Amino acid sequence: MATDGYLLELRHISQVYGSGEQKFTAIRDVDLALKDGEFAALIGPTGCGKSTLLRIITGLQTPTSGQVLYRGKPLVGVNPHATIVFQTFALFPWLTVLENVEVALKARSVPPKLRVSRALDLLDRVGLDGFETAYPRELSGGMLQKVGFARAMAVEPELLCLDEPFSSLDVLSAESLKGELLELWTTGHIPTRAILMATHNIEEAVFLADRIIVMDKDPGRVIMNLKVDLAHPRNRKDHHFLEVVDRVYMVLAGQTLPEHLELGTAPGEPGRTRALPHINIDDLTGLLEYLDTIPNHRADIYALASELQINSDELLRLIEAAELLGFVNVAHGDITLNPLGETFSEASIRSRKEIFATRIRRLPIFKWLLNLLRSSGRKQLEWDVVQTALGLEFHEEEAQRQLDTAIDWGRYAEILAYDDSSEILYLEPGGN
Ligand code: ADP
Ligand code: MG
Repeated sequence: MATDGYLLELRHISQVYGSGEQKFTAIRDVDLALKDGEFAALIGPTGCGKSTLLRIITGLQTPTSGQVLYRGKPLVGVNPHATIVFQTFALFPWLTVLENVEVALKARSVPPKLRVSRALDLLDRVGLDGFETAYPRELSGGMLQKVGFARAMAVEPELLCLDEPFSSLDVLSAESLKGELLELWTTGHIPTRAILMATHNIEEAVFLADRIIVMDKDPGRVIMNLKVDLAHPRNRKDHHFLEVVDRVYMVLAGQTLPEHLELGTAPGEPGRTRALPHINIDDLTGLLEYLDTIPNHRADIYALASELQINSDELLRLIEAAELLGFVNVAHGDITLNPLGETFSEASIRSRKEIFATRIRRLPIFKWLLNLLRSSGRKQLEWDVVQTALGLEFHEEEAQRQLDTAIDWGRYAEILAYDDSSEILYLEPGGN
């Protein structure tokens, strides 16, 4: 082992793609070290160079400049101690599950008998016991990805690289596979010494990793390292967990003001309660998607109103909402989509809802409303009761509109439900 304890070290790695006019710097001057025993997550918007970095690390690609050291020695060619698991797997359709895992061992010249026993063992560990003789077409997406994991782990890599391995799976399969990976990793049942996982999913990173490496793009670079000092198994509802999640969001959003100044205080508390801007969520996502398509993700606010053909009052409300949620930065008459906004506009509907939920939970009005609901016996409240309480802070008509908007946002985020006929507000199960 290298004396400094690093399994992997990247020094001043840059990657330029294309040539001449088309030249484009995908990654600039990235330094990164991974210790023996460490599980790190790479997080950042699409195009920030996560996949490129993983290919460079495993030696599938040689960077334009910089050095890759593995156990202190310069890496030459493909790293035989590392394996990558991709988002989707190319399994051989004509081979059984068992044979698909064996193939990887054959390629590494493992003798036939050992091949079978090792492949069986791995399939058992990822929960595919009983499916050895099935063909890929008979398996669900989640099971296929498990075969992928088994195949990657069969070769007993010291360094396991995961490139958004859960993003193409349904929620349940992703959850169970994450659980199995953690189990293998934390119990030391695999010889793997370090894991590096690229992901879009902030909560997934905080759930699994010991360290989060936050990247930004144009050019791709590391903007922060954040240690996750939480013991496994981690509880997503635990406030330390949520604190770390919030910090990652803050970095991605480039937030600089303290929360109480940025967000105001809760109704009934001293200080100003910042009102929710009354906007339609589709219009908001439309604005963010638009910003995602333009150069530098930046637009002049004045020009934007005519560009998008909406009136300026409405545009200002949309911008205020986007800023309140931390998706954009506004300065000198310009609006810029930040990395969190990019992540949101490029995410699936499901992930968008999760991001949105995390963002609105920090708003004092929502904190207050959720507390109110939680402390009411049946986790439900009548509309009138909430409106009256909001009347402490807003005049009657505004209190109504605040509540309407809060319900609209809470429904989209799937943390609140509202029954129009009985006029009763509920906490969604899991929305507490
Ligand atoms: P991520 O995985 O974070 O989405 P990638 O590493 O895939 O990022 O890509 C980083 C940037 O480099 C993107 O702008 C992408 O279009 C570009 N890129 C990636 N691979 C190539 C390639 N082989 N040739 C040219 N450009 C590439
Ligand atoms: Mg990628």
